[in-house]
Amino acid sequence: MKYISTRGQTEPMDFSDVLLMGLAPDGGLMLPESYPQIDSATLNEWRKLSYPQLAFEIMRLFATDIDEADLKDIINRTYTKEVFGSDEIVPVRQLKDDLYILGLSNGPTLAFKDVAMQFLGNAFEYVLKKKGKRLTIIGATSGDTGSAAEYALRGKDNIEVFMMSPHGKMSEFQRAQMYSLTDANIHNIAIKGMFDDCQDIVKALQQDADFKAKYSLGTVNSINWGRILAQIVYYFKGYFAATENNDEKVSFCVPSGNFGNICAGHIAREMGLPIERLIVATNENDVLNDFFNQGVYTPRPADKTYVTSSPSMDISKASNFERFVYLLLDKDSKRVNELFDGVKAGKGFELSDVLDAVNNRYGFAAGKSTHQDRLNTIKAVYENYNDLIDPHTADGVKVAQELQKEGEVIICAETALPVKFSETIFEAVGEIEIERPEHTKGLESLEQHVTVLDNDASLVANEIKAVVAPI
Ligand SMILES: *Cc1c(COP(=O)(O)O)cnc(C)c1O
Repeated sequence: MKYISTRGQTEPMDFSDVLLMGLAPDGGLMLPESYPQIDSATLNEWRKLSYPQLAFEIMRLFATDIDEADLKDIINRTYTKEVFGSDEIVPVRQLKDDLYILGLSNGPTLAFKDVAMQFLGNAFEYVLKKKGKRLTIIGATSGDTGSAAEYALRGKDNIEVFMMSPHGKMSEFQRAQMYSLTDANIHNIAIKGMFDDCQDIVKALQQDADFKAKYSLGTVNSINWGRILAQIVYYFKGYFAATENNDEKVSFCVPSGNFGNICAGHIAREMGLPIERLIVATNENDVLNDFFNQGVYTPRPADKTYVTSSPSMDISKASNFERFVYLLLDKDSKRVNELFDGVKAGKGFELSDVLDAVNNRYGFAAGKSTHQDRLNTIKAVYENYNDLIDPHTADGVKVAQELQKEGEVIICAETALPVKFSETIFEAVGEIEIERPEHTKGLESLEQHVTVLDNDASLVANEIKAVVAPI
């Protein structure tokens, strides 16, 4: 299996090279040349498999340059009961006849990003060792991504992590989660500024080609192909849990921001998984809702991004969206170039001529949810089903119920656990006791380790130089 770029100007590459990449050299996103096709007999075989077995069968089709025994070992070390709380890894529960919740948030940081990031951490370590390389991961986070990355990369050989977060802007739980880590390769930096300032520092350091090469800089953001790959697996698992045979179809509803999670669902569908519809749920930051309903994509400038009570979906541009548009335009990389160069320059684009294909051929639909919807949904689900869901998952459940057709079975992705967002939960249902996984008990009272810096990229560069030896 070779990988190509959406911009068409990068030589086809192997999986393990793509794994360590952010953007392709031509500015595009890497994708497999084609998607393996899974027939019904194979689906029947896969139905019986455990999560790690299923992950192996799927990933071996894409990670063809990794020795199969090694791949199996990486997967078996990643998807364990110790890390994800149960042998099912992503347990499915039923709210009512035609509505299920896919529990993606039982990993170390209680958000769905762990499912992919834990795999990435182990895969990185393996590939770096093979290639005799090391990596300095720099990142910016307003919460979930940074902690998922740190918990996946802590203690890994040949990897140093420098994670920037806006000083004083994260929740108490999120701060405790990140800053309480004591692993020598994890470096938390709180920047006196906003999330966008942190992201600008990452960009500035990445764009300094000399510095980047000398300190072997890399990222783990949501455009990484390894993350998408790991996420494909749970669409299969969710489908099997909610059906008895392959004649049945289900729909998935996914609380979305950067379009990474649902992009994996789209690929699962292209591989032949019997998915009826893929429903994109957005919050007040509704650029994707506009696209899937009107065919118009209008990314917002960062300062027009709303701060909401489902903060991990507060995006102004959906960074994985280019992968979908590339397929939508029948791999016309010239057109993708034009459209996304425009996006970079702050322009939007219109593809209403292909909206029929989006809905009919690819089965997409979208809806939006607001703060009040979130509160109402958390309350209704709590009262009607005795089940507590987090604000992001609530966006999904709201949209799923609004768009559900007669006879349609919908599986909603649970993208975080409620304990991470207790303020909104209390606002919805009052000050109840929120269940907390054992390993997070007492987290807030642990000693915290963080370096506070002024908003200045050179100060961060100095932190890196103090730890990492130049090549
Ligand atoms: C990251 C995140 C999302 C958005 O996922 P995308 O892959 O960016 O669409 C939704 N909910 C939670 C809790 C997240 O952490």
